[in-house]
Amino acid sequence: MNSMSPKQGAKGVLKKIKSRRAVPLSSRELKESVTTIGYKTSHVLPAIRLKVSYQELKERVGGKAAGLIEMSKLKVPVPPAFNISTAVCRYFLSTGQLPEVVLSQMKVALSGLEASLKKNFGKAQDPLLISVRSGARVSMPGMMDTILNIGLNREVTQKLAELNPSRARFWWDCYRRLIQMFSEVVLEVPYEDFDRALMELRQEEGVESDAQISVKGLQALCTTYQQIVKRAGVEFPENPWSQVVLATEAVFKSWNSERAKTYRTLHHYSEDWGTAVTIQAMVFGNLNEHSGTGVVFTRDPSTGAKRIYGEYLLNAQGEDVVAGIRTPEPIEEMRRQLPQSFGELQKALTRLETHFNDAQDVEFTIEDKRLYILQTRSAKRTASAAIENVVQFVQEKRLKPAEALQRISFDQVRQLLHPTLSPSKEKPLGRGLAASPGAAAGRIAFDPERAVSLHRAGHKVILVRRETSPEDIMGMAVSEGILTSTGGMTSHAAVVGRGMGKCCVVGCSDLQVNEKDRSAILNGIALHEEDWITLNGSTGEVYSGQLPTQPVTWGESAKKFFVWADQSSRIPVYANADTPEQATQARGLGARGIGLCRTEHMFFDKDRIHRFRSMILSEKESDRETAARALQAYQEADFYEILKAMEGFPVTVRLLDPPLHEFLPSIENEQEIAELAKGLGTSSARLVQRIYQLHETNPMLGHRGCRLGITFPEIYEMQVRALAASLKRNLSEGRKVFLKIMIPLVMNAEELSWLLSRLKVVFQGDAKLQKVTSWGTMIELPRACLIANEIAPLVDFISFGTNDLTQTTLGLSRDDAAKFIPTYLELGLLKVDPFESIDQAGVGRLIQMAVTEGRKANRNLEVGICGEHGGDPESIQFFERHLFDSVSCSPYRVPIARLALGRCGLDSRGSKRRK
Ligand code: PEP
Ligand code: MG
Repeated sequence: MNSMSPKQGAKGVLKKIKSRRAVPLSSRELKESVTTIGYKTSHVLPAIRLKVSYQELKERVGGKAAGLIEMSKLKVPVPPAFNISTAVCRYFLSTGQLPEVVLSQMKVALSGLEASLKKNFGKAQDPLLISVRSGARVSMPGMMDTILNIGLNREVTQKLAELNPSRARFWWDCYRRLIQMFSEVVLEVPYEDFDRALMELRQEEGVESDAQISVKGLQALCTTYQQIVKRAGVEFPENPWSQVVLATEAVFKSWNSERAKTYRTLHHYSEDWGTAVTIQAMVFGNLNEHSGTGVVFTRDPSTGAKRIYGEYLLNAQGEDVVAGIRTPEPIEEMRRQLPQSFGELQKALTRLETHFNDAQDVEFTIEDKRLYILQTRSAKRTASAAIENVVQFVQEKRLKPAEALQRISFDQVRQLLHPTLSPSKEKPLGRGLAASPGAAAGRIAFDPERAVSLHRAGHKVILVRRETSPEDIMGMAVSEGILTSTGGMTSHAAVVGRGMGKCCVVGCSDLQVNEKDRSAILNGIALHEEDWITLNGSTGEVYSGQLPTQPVTWGESAKKFFVWADQSSRIPVYANADTPEQATQARGLGARGIGLCRTEHMFFDKDRIHRFRSMILSEKESDRETAARALQAYQEADFYEILKAMEGFPVTVRLLDPPLHEFLPSIENEQEIAELAKGLGTSSARLVQRIYQLHETNPMLGHRGCRLGITFPEIYEMQVRALAASLKRNLSEGRKVFLKIMIPLVMNAEELSWLLSRLKVVFQGDAKLQKVTSWGTMIELPRACLIANEIAPLVDFISFGTNDLTQTTLGLSRDDAAKFIPTYLELGLLKVDPFESIDQAGVGRLIQMAVTEGRKANRNLEVGICGEHGGDPESIQFFERHLFDSVSCSPYRVPIARLALGRCGLDSRGSKRRK
């Protein structure tokens, strides 16, 4: 028996697969493995000769180098450099070696660099120092390594100091920075030891900043640093060429650092991309008081406002700005301090923004009044700034609305909708699945009753459960966020959380919830009721305590942007909304109807559940009828309000779906059993017997959906009567309302036809009601897909319930799949979670067949989707391709669906497309 946990086992297998797979270099990749930027030298390819799109260029040489190449073409001043491609990184990571050819090309490129600058690498006479920088196709800030000042050693530094005594301090400072950075990054010596030595020296000399340390002190510090390195059992290489090779290898290796891996997982970036290395001539912002370095944005990255925004430091190197040792000055100060360089910087920024046609985020250095741009990239900014910028660019006629739609990512739309965690250095206690985005902090409640009472007492609440069930709905409604230890992306907590727009983390498998003791343990940390925790529903992270959040509001620009999306999409987005509040919210987010109103949540109010239980537990039909009539009044009021909130748009109401057992009382609750028995005129013992009768082993495949409507016809009849009455009331009040009644989980045409004929009777003789009502069914079972030709003629519309359809096609329980799907994803046995993005080859094929056959049998058949996949961009593309008439998703995913459909509309349309 293997004692490994499934997770450990998976990792082991993964390692083996990886170590077997060497990634060879093709002859083209070999030829283009080293390229020069900003200078030419024989035998090495100049990067400007790579005739590829900008995107492909980034893939080959990394975003940083691609930016340098473009800048050198634009005659923006950049320090010359050479690049080692991402293909070499892939080769290196799979074999552990740099190819000889690449090493010799690097040597040639370095000599060329020396020649072009008339400087010498590893020599004191006109010394050339270089930086070795990482750069993947996308920006991964701070995730991989960079090493500066390469080329110095003790001998060279000593000579440099002697040759130019006024710069002695500068050179010793460069050398000590090199030892520290190289040793930390390449030799993995802990940084604390260096920091401590620096602090001690400052104290010894009685100075406040590094810049005040004496030359002698710095010289001694270099010796101390080297001793620290030796004590760690390694040696700092004094040979400059060895420094280059080791640093290059270390940067390649940093692609697989834990932080880079985590970042990739979070952003769904591929492991296979690799990073490039750019080796660039150093320019010195710390040369003198006419030097400096900084980071500047062409537009404000937090609001999007059209103004230069940034900061810089005089007499400093890049890492000083990032490390926060000295507080940088706002960029406006530079206008005063270095007016000429500031003017040049402004010119370069305008040129770069115009060329890249996007707000840029630029790193620069001034060496003795001479400006160099080290890096430019599309600005990293908040989602609202990004929207603001694309709208500005459209208004400035630099972008078409259609292009603007491509500029905003779905992640940015998600950010736009929810409060987010303010940046902090806090470490998470644990992590689950990021089921519903946003951030929330609150006091822990371990059951819905406690959640309600805490909420009533004015507290913010996070509901923490092993898993949630429909009975938790009130607790969920009053909570800021929901955390569960089990369940996947379509578990009850995830679906309902998303529907409510609540931040939600599910399947946090390290969390042990002890509901009895009202406590939990997460990675060794005990959590008690009323303790504060914070959830990040966008990453799945769980923190202890109350972390600050920042709210987001939609401005005019966001509204404009989504109107552009609607204008280019072919079909509307509906929402899955169960209450008038959700309907109003969905409408505000751009929903043009309700595609799924789940009626089950309407029964969980205390009074209603009691009546509902009386209905299903009573053995006489007449008793059931009485209970049903009492419930009808409630339902009427619910439906009336929802139809009203969606006036002008269709509302699709699904008749009751969940398994009966979800409505049964617990037999352990003796008091409730006694009360119910009394109400039903029976004994507790008989009632318990009836509960046992209704109990099921596998409820999700049992007494649910339309089967419930057939065995308890009173339920559906009551719901349809309530719908008719609420519709009538709205019509009589002059509202334009449209109702779609939907029957769930059909498996054959006979059951559907049986139900339809029984239910349609309610509308008989009322032409006005009939005119605004249509009838449909959900397609949630493989069999229903296969017999769509028999189902379609009976209905006006079908809507795919892809949550159940995925569950039943793949044979994976939607509530338990989170236990093993991560392993499948890790092993590459599944590319994506099929509950998140539609399994096109399997479930998709069934859908495709059902749509084709269904439409053949009923030309006017309307086709929609209301499973969670209706909010997934990738799946939406699939539904659009198969000419669906609408998609429906949780209110908070409506804008994502609008953007996804807007983008689909931009693709060239075949004449077969229906309008
Ligand atoms: C579905 O199965 O896709 C669906 C929408 O229904 P529910 O999630 O309520 O089962
Ligand atoms: Mg379903």
